[in-house]
Amino acid sequence: MDKDYFIDYYQVLQCDRTATTHELKKNYQRLLLSTHPDKMDIKNSKNMFLLVQKAWSVLKDSETRKQYDAMFSCHENSELLLYDTITLSDMSLNSAEGIYTYKCRCGGTYALSKDCVEAEIIIGCDECSFSIQVNK
Ligand SMILES: [Zn+2]
Repeated sequence: MDKDYFIDYYQVLQCDRTATTHELKKNYQRLLLSTHPDKMDIKNSKNMFLLVQKAWSVLKDSETRKQYDAMFSCHENSELLLYDTITLSDMSLNSAEGIYTYKCRCGGTYALSKDCVEAEIIIGCDECSFSIQVNK
């Protein structure tokens, strides 16, 4: 995925990141109908239609969704509560998925895609509002 063209697929499907697959699917189906090229101004609707399909193709599968979520964390730059500063070697690497993970004290997980590793990066927990800073 190209960083410069990072697209919030949750926003495309008008869901938030905690949405279940069922909720995503419901919105996907609704949006497919409302953005269908037959129903809208052709130019806009074609892009939207493709985008909705792309978003669903990534988020419907729990594996690709997990990878997407890990990527997503790199692109968030909201005000964060910093919980800890660690180094990459403190994290465990799932080499099959290319994702580093670190357990949060809330029981949630910090996930970092290998493709996103930079000198230092801040990632958020998938359960609570804490974040950690990871130094390479
Ligand atoms: Zn947490």
